Amino acid sequence: MSHTWLDVPADHPFGIATLPYGVFSAGGPEQRRVGVRIGDQVLDVSATARATGADWADAWNRPTLNDFLALGRSAWTSAREWLVELLGNEAHRSEVEPHLVPLGDVTLHLPIDVADYVDFYASEQHATNVGSIFRPDSAALTPNWKHLPIGYHGRSGTVVVSGTDIVRPTGQRKAPSDAAPTFGPSIRLDIETELGYVVGGSTTVGSRVSVDEASNHLFGVTLFNDWSARDIQAWEYVPLGPFLGKSFASSIGAWVVPMEALAAARVPLPTQDPEPLPYLRGASEASYGLDLRFEVRLNDTVIARPPYKELYWSPAQMLAHMTVNGASLRPGDLFASGTISGNEKDQRGSLLELTWNGKEPITLSDGSTRGFLEDGDTVTITAWAPGPEGATIGLGEVTGTIRSAV
Ligand code: CA
Repeated sequence: MSHTWLDVPADHPFGIATLPYGVFSAGGPEQRRVGVRIGDQVLDVSATARATGADWADAWNRPTLNDFLALGRSAWTSAREWLVELLGNEAHRSEVEPHLVPLGDVTLHLPIDVADYVDFYASEQHATNVGSIFRPDSAALTPNWKHLPIGYHGRSGTVVVSGTDIVRPTGQRKAPSDAAPTFGPSIRLDIETELGYVVGGSTTVGSRVSVDEASNHLFGVTLFNDWSARDIQAWEYVPLGPFLGKSFASSIGAWVVPMEALAAARVPLPTQDPEPLPYLRGASEASYGLDLRFEVRLNDTVIARPPYKELYWSPAQMLAHMTVNGASLRPGDLFASGTISGNEKDQRGSLLELTWNGKEPITLSDGSTRGFLEDGDTVTITAWAPGPEGATIGLGEVTGTIRSAV
């Protein structure tokens, strides 16, 4: 069913082909609960499910998506079919209309209670650029890069929802030319344009999820900005990787778009050469790229349009690698793609790359220049994907404004 009886234009990014999940509250003391966006309205799905006797009413009457995520793939698929029937068949108008709330009347909240958070590094162009900047005297790609999806464990407790202000972090830094480290607010605060994958279901410690089984745990995607203090990062990251230069805040979108909505956006992965080890292979349909078109705005200026479809590793490969040692999954686990960068200069997903570590500042529409972020700057990342029958799948936005250090 490709059309809704609601008054939503056919080219709206939140038509019936999208149907993302979020958590909202509306009015005074009303509690947070799960909502589904259709057009510029939010359907109170727990109330609708309760009124119609459908399943999932309890799982949706919660302040996060986690209980629904725990139900697993068959429940997610059934729920989406139910939503498409409700919103696609006008016979349900009287059941649905009482539970629609205008988007302008709701407050959107962090959609998941983030369990574990992992950040990957799956863009070859990004890894090459960063290697060239941080390690100019060695090969840009490390020897392991094409054999495994490189990642690290981040800090789930500082994942915040779109719209949350970001306080400039303070820490240690030492440029190679400095005699000793200094301490203070970061002077190289940056963004990383990424896609976050929301995981559902669970596994036990000691088990693993294969590439072919990954779809049972991949619930959906959300936009992700991995704020990064490059000066803190550059001094601290050898030998154990990112720490305080990243953990102060990571922003995610308020909407989680189900994987089903991205079926028409699937594209082949880039050629993987050398061939990955068998546990990173699997059926050809299990590993796919996604044709997601990102746009990054700094204040009023579009500074980059990174193409997700060039990412080297598939989400199924990242999930399989993340669990191959027996590490378990929990509902609400979140893993991100790593910065998305394309081959062209205006396709780079971080200021580090766009300005080549501040050496080539970019000019904004008001005539000012930036190497890195200034206090008061607002960064907004949006994305969309092609949907079925010419539809557009909106991924919403993730935005944040920099506040001065405390
Ligand atoms: Ca990152």
